[in-house]
Amino acid sequence: MENRLSSWAMNIASSPTLIVDAKAKALKAEGKDVCGFGAGEPDFDTPQFIKDACVKAISEGKTKYIPAAGLQPLREALADDYAAGKGLKNIKFSNIVVSAGGKFSCYLAILAAISPNDEVIIPAPYWVSYPEMVKLAGGKPVFVYAGDESDFKITPEILERAVSSKTKMLILGSPSNPTGSVYTKSELQAIVDFAIKHDIYILSDEIYEHLVYDGVKAVSPATLSEEAQNRVIIVSGFSKTYAMTGWRLGTLCAPDDIAKAVAKLQSQTSSNATTFAQYGALEVFKKPELAKESLAMMLEAFDRRRLMLYDGLNSIKGVSCRRAKGAFYLFPNISSFGLSSTDFCSKLLDEELVAAVPGIAFGSEPNIRFSYAVSDEIIKKGIERISRFCSKL
Ligand SMILES: *Cc1c(COP(=O)(O)O)cnc(C)c1O
Repeated sequence: MENRLSSWAMNIASSPTLIVDAKAKALKAEGKDVCGFGAGEPDFDTPQFIKDACVKAISEGKTKYIPAAGLQPLREALADDYAAGKGLKNIKFSNIVVSAGGKFSCYLAILAAISPNDEVIIPAPYWVSYPEMVKLAGGKPVFVYAGDESDFKITPEILERAVSSKTKMLILGSPSNPTGSVYTKSELQAIVDFAIKHDIYILSDEIYEHLVYDGVKAVSPATLSEEAQNRVIIVSGFSKTYAMTGWRLGTLCAPDDIAKAVAKLQSQTSSNATTFAQYGALEVFKKPELAKESLAMMLEAFDRRRLMLYDGLNSIKGVSCRRAKGAFYLFPNISSFGLSSTDFCSKLLDEELVAAVPGIAFGSEPNIRFSYAVSDEIIKKGIERISRFCSKL
């Protein structure tokens, strides 16, 4: 056979964040004392009340197929949250799809909107999966860049240089993985105006919507006007907010036609996300006080670690780090050392057993990504090691 693998399989890259994590885990398994800042998931356990509801659902036999788009009461609770909680207009359960993870929600949204040769503007630094998903839909990623000096946030002026008659979508992540940046309402308004002017969709990845600090609030571009809502596809989920990465539950809130198309695509591919997992997630809306409590506990720890890591990194000569206000990442600039981000990270792991992700994986060579979803002890130890490493460069 000449072409054993398809062009889809050949053209897609492996997730570089998962690769770093795998290398760090392998070293750990060998008994090495690794400070792992590579992982993109909360280090907390899923709140007990959510686990209990899932176990109960299993005991009660909630182990069968349900409608592909998701558990009806969960879709209704999510619709209610988007309508009453966030102020979206005319949102019904039919605008909501529950999928097997926010990642899959993103992919289905792209599949629903992008045809071969359509262009999708992806601001760098970007989440590693966006370009690959666009390619899997036959679309063409078009990159724009905003670095440290602009807090990693793009503006309409930057977008104007990338837009063409083939542009169909802009992908926006706020709070951002990998930078932690959060767009303000007025910055988003300008971007929404750009999207309306050029008649394109915004895929708004809001998976970190609840993980914000320094008093900022994450705004969804969909909430800015009805015209905005009609072209914004919101992706979110439970993974980051409730430490449920392994549950594989993501959500999507979209205009009627897109939501319907996503549900159809899902019905022919994965079918419904795991039934009893959805019963667990439903508990977030049935017991809002408990949900709030567990989120507040995690936020307090994240914020403390964020500041520890921020101060620690900035105390190292040659490293400069912006005070990111969202998610659980810092994205310091290490370009003063004259190493590529890949060489920097691989030396750092080899010499000091500290794992971080090279910025080039996210389309930003001057930076590296640290996740602060790790213990205070690891942050303390990690800073000492990074400091020693940098002083030798
Ligand atoms: C973690 C993450 C997701 C979704 O993760 P799932 O585990 O699939 O729910 C989506 N977007 C970004 C930017 C993420 O970091």
